[in-house]
Amino acid sequence: MSAVSSSSPSDRFSLPDAGGHFGRYGGVFVPETLMTALQELGDVYAAARQDPEFQRELRHHLKEFAGRPTELYFAERLTEYAGGAKIYLKREDLLHTGAHKINNALAQALLARRMGKKRIIAETGAGQHGVATAAVCAKFGLECVVYMGAVDMERQALNVFRMRLMGAEVRGVEAGQKTLKEAINEAMRDWVTNVRSTHYILGSALGAHPYPMMVRDFHRVIGQEVREQILAREQRLPDEMVACVGGGSNAIGFFFEFLDEPSVRLVGVEAGGRGIKRGEHAARFEGGKLGVLQGSKTYILQNPDGQIELTHSVSAGLDYAAIGPEHAYYRDRNRVQYAYACDDEVIETFQLCSRLEGIIPALESTHALVHGLKRAKEMRKDQIIVINLSGRGDKDVNQVAKILGVTL
Ligand SMILES: *Cc1c(COP(=O)(O)O)cnc(C)c1O
Repeated sequence: MSAVSSSSPSDRFSLPDAGGHFGRYGGVFVPETLMTALQELGDVYAAARQDPEFQRELRHHLKEFAGRPTELYFAERLTEYAGGAKIYLKREDLLHTGAHKINNALAQALLARRMGKKRIIAETGAGQHGVATAAVCAKFGLECVVYMGAVDMERQALNVFRMRLMGAEVRGVEAGQKTLKEAINEAMRDWVTNVRSTHYILGSALGAHPYPMMVRDFHRVIGQEVREQILAREQRLPDEMVACVGGGSNAIGFFFEFLDEPSVRLVGVEAGGRGIKRGEHAARFEGGKLGVLQGSKTYILQNPDGQIELTHSVSAGLDYAAIGPEHAYYRDRNRVQYAYACDDEVIETFQLCSRLEGIIPALESTHALVHGLKRAKEMRKDQIIVINLSGRGDKDVNQVAKILGVTL
């Protein structure tokens, strides 16, 4: 444990500052036309955060609609297989719509209602955030438009149909790489034009303030439950916690309650894709540099001219050139460590977890499993590791079948 991590217990509640900064990261880098909307959102959220009625309502919907609390599951056979630390899985895959994304989508839909906004827009990559947003909009009777890259729409046709079934309009984006980055650009353009009637439900701990803070807060429930559950089960805190990091929302929500516990090692796992070579991965801490993308200053994969680098990962949900600013901050302070997992290891572990535990994990979450299993092997049998299973793999079975050469 480094001196930095133990001497910096927590400014966690004072971050970000009023301008949305996590140290030198974060901030508000948007066109002037959006400043008023972000200010309004910040004010409404500040009030809601203090309001017991908002918190009560959110808890109610998280329980009844989303299915919280989720189990903390002892993975007996994976533990036996690794032969080291006890492995627990936090079962966010059991949530309605199949991933942690619903925690944030529900909460932001409640905020939209408070602001009197009846039209929702969202971006989506793999489609999980789009599906979660479509579901909450159906539930609350809100109009819903989801922007999605044309390439992603083709790869994730099933999720496109799901969104449409729930009444959302899915708009394909043909610009650039036709994936998540372009979908976010289109959503921001829509927001600028329709800001009076429309709330933008951003899907990760990314973008301009107050989004990274707000999205983090809406996922903190994950770590709060883990703390209670592991204390009830083992009468102590875990030694290590591992989560995958796309934008960083499931990871920061999982870690937050433990930032002040120097005995708990926290590890985020990025997408190593086909290996750490330019354009072949999405591990921002492996070769990324400080820059600004879509509202926030953070680590970004870019070429020497500052153009955004192409990225690749077998999992669409981790395939993004920027990482949430709070992660960059805790990495600098050495409080959270970062690793990566590559496509081939992910495909192997996807099958292993399915076979040993009867749980088909999302490809994103499988990145955390790959690293967690390596670590469990190195740890003692009396130690405990908790891995966040951010989502389920039903959405990925077609893709994996194709990779394995199986015709369905
Ligand atoms: C979207 C998604 C991720 C990545 O997003 P984060 O904001 O980094 O959590 C991870 N796992 C699943 C299952 C997802 O759907």
